[in-house]
Parts: sequence; C-alpha cells; structure tokens
Amino acid sequence: MPASAPITQDVATIPRKMPEGPVNLVGLTRDGLRAALIEAGTPEKQAKMRAGQIWQWLYHWGVRDFDRMTNLSKDYRAMLARTFVISLPEVVTRQVSNDGTRKYLVRIAGGHEVEVVYIPETDRGTLCISSQVGCTLTCSFCHTGTQKLVRNLTAAEIVGQIMLARDDLDEWPKPGVGANDAGPRLLSNIVLMGMGEPLYNFENVRDGMKIAMDPEGISLSRRRITLSTSGVVPEIAKTAEEIGCLLAVSFHATTDEVRDKLVPINKRWNIETLLGALRDYPRLSNSERITFEYVMLKGVNDSDEDAHRLIKLIEGIPAKINLIPFNEWPGAPYERSSNNRIHAFADIIYKAGYASPIRTPRGEDIMAACGQLKSATERARKSRAQIAQETGL
Ligand code: SAH
Ligand code: SF4
Repeated sequence: MPASAPITQDVATIPRKMPEGPVNLVGLTRDGLRAALIEAGTPEKQAKMRAGQIWQWLYHWGVRDFDRMTNLSKDYRAMLARTFVISLPEVVTRQVSNDGTRKYLVRIAGGHEVEVVYIPETDRGTLCISSQVGCTLTCSFCHTGTQKLVRNLTAAEIVGQIMLARDDLDEWPKPGVGANDAGPRLLSNIVLMGMGEPLYNFENVRDGMKIAMDPEGISLSRRRITLSTSGVVPEIAKTAEEIGCLLAVSFHATTDEVRDKLVPINKRWNIETLLGALRDYPRLSNSERITFEYVMLKGVNDSDEDAHRLIKLIEGIPAKINLIPFNEWPGAPYERSSNNRIHAFADIIYKAGYASPIRTPRGEDIMAACGQLKSATERARKSRAQIAQETGL
C-alpha cells in the first residue's frame, strides 16, 4: 500500500431511509412502526396494540403477507397493503461450501450487492452480516477495503439479512410448536463482521440489532451478537450504551507504525486511544470479554516480540485473542503466517492467561472467509495497486 494512502475513501452522505415508494415496515423500530401506523390513520389509542400485533407477525412468525395477519380486521389489512410494503433484500445466489458454510449474494435497492455468510458449528450457527456496501476504510489486507463505499445499508437491509437466512434455514416458528420443543437454534449468533465498518453506520446498525434482540420477535440475546470494529473510538461507548452487544476489535498490530499501515484508521485514533476506549467499555466484565482480532501476516505482525507486546498492551482488559490466519484474495499484498508460527504466537498468549483460539477459515472454497467478501460484480479484478493507479493515489 502506498504510504500516502488515505484513511477513508469517498465518504458519502447517505439518507437513512430510502425516500421514494411506500414505507417498508421492515426495519422500523417499535416507535417508528407505531408512528407510521398513526400517520396512516390508525387511532392513537390503538396504535400501540396494532404495532405489537404486526411486530409479532413480522419478526416472530416471519409473515410477509398482510392477508395472513389474521388477528387484524380485513379492512385494516387492506389499508396496510395499500399503504405499506414488507420488503427484504433479494437473494441472488446461494452457494454452499464443502464444510456446510452458506454464502448468499444479496441485492438491495439500487441494484447494489452485499454478501451474507452462515457458518454452522456443532453448538451454534453464526450469521455474518454486512453493514455497508463496500467500506470507506482501506485496511491493506482486506478485500472489502479495495471496494469503494457505495452506501450504508438501511436498518431494513441489516435485519433483512437475518430474516432471509431464517427463510433459507426454514427457521421461523411453526404454529403449535413451543420454542423449547423446536430444538437448538440453527441461527443462534450474529456477527457484524461482513462487509463494511458497522460503527460508520451506527444508527442503522443499532436499529437493526434492536429489532433482532426484541423478545417478541427474533429474540436474540445481546450476548449472542458481536460487533466488530476497526476502532472508531467515539462510537465505542455508544455501542455499549445503545446496543449492549459484545465487542470485537480489529487490532492486528502491536505498534502504531505497523497498525498505521494495516488499519489506517489508526492514524486518527492510535493504539493508546483505542485501548482507552476499550478499557472504558462500560459493560466490561469477565463474561463480556472484548475479542481482539489479530490477522496473522507472515513477517509483518507475527513475531514472538509482537505476542509479548500484545500481552503488555491489553493488560487489565478482560480479553480473548482471536487469531485469524490471513485469507488470501487475488492481488493481496500479504501471505498467511505458517501454521507453526501461528501456534507459537497463540502459545505465548495462552500462557499469559488469555484464550487464544485460532479461527478456522470457513467456506474458503466459495470465498466466504473473513475479509474475502466483496460484491460479485467487483470481485477478482481490481487489486489495490490497480485502484491506486486508476485513482492516482
Ligand atoms: N469492518 C469491521 C468488520 C468487518 S471485517 C472490522 O474491520 O472490524 C471482520 C474481520 O475480518 C476483521 O477483524 C478484519 O480485520 C478481518 N479481515 C479482513 N480481511 C481479512 C483477511 N483477508 N484475512 C483474514 N481476516 C481478515
Ligand atoms: Fe473495512 Fe473492516 Fe475491511 Fe478494514 S477490515 S477495510 S474496516 S471491512
């Protein structure tokens, strides 16, 4: 990466809600839904109850058709159908890896595309969702970072990724089957680790997650949602206060010099500032450790000294260190550290008292692994060098 590479690419000013067309009920908060119903003529006294009923149809039962909302009168349903839509992003392709990982290419309004990945494990099923089309940041090891930001996703598009995965897994409750009889959930965890920097799309991410956590709907506990940030320091405390989910941070280096190159947002908020925000993360407790993500890049950040420095830096922070073997992509300027190196690094951290799992790359055969996501239309062609050449940066 050229030393002068910018921290961000074009930062677009993006409206939160798409203005044109009928209002989509998906993605409205409870209050927003109530207000929309009042605006459509629902008497104020009834609006809370109607909003609650519609909420359950949408998010508990996964219903998409107003006619199936049978506890509402026919006239009311007809009014809803005239005034609103229930709209999800459209699944364009669905690929299934040899290891069971599923990758969905999803089209959103405007024809843009994002990727969503479902990772089944023995004790859980994790959905990795995207928050932006592309990313404004330019981390030099990340495939998404080579794609310019096109736009922020709306709250509907964020929660919509969860809903379409539940459709595909056929995991909406069946009438007459109690929650406890349905067996363990296939989609039990969410990680905001797909495309984009979630804390640069804070409000939509917050609203999408609030909907996913609501007990009368999808009902995922805040401890089953992990938001990963590259280190947008001013938003970290807000994340604790307004979302309350678990936090992961893309740490990746132990000196500012190296982190400036790998995660250029470090030039704005350096390691010390970032660690300050993490120490203050108000909900810190042993059960709510911060996950430090650390991508293993051969000869760049993987020495024994790095491991020792990392331990010193995070001293006092309840933490788990997630080591991510670098996933290659066409034109990537780095190589994955050797297995021996990764294990030696993990060992040093483990001996210092921290969990140091090595993340097994999943879905590599379908380019679904961390950092490999990119809109298909953008895929495979442009290396960072090509982009730099084109943009003159
Ligand atoms: N923008 C957010 C979330 C998305 S990235 C963030 O940066 O935290 C999810 C994780 O994958 C991050 O830790 C990211 O640094 C890591 N990652 C990106 N590219 C990668 C690659 N090629 N190989 C391995 N991990 C990668
Ligand atoms: Fe954006 Fe995260 Fe990739 Fe960095 S690692 S470019 S913040 S998606």
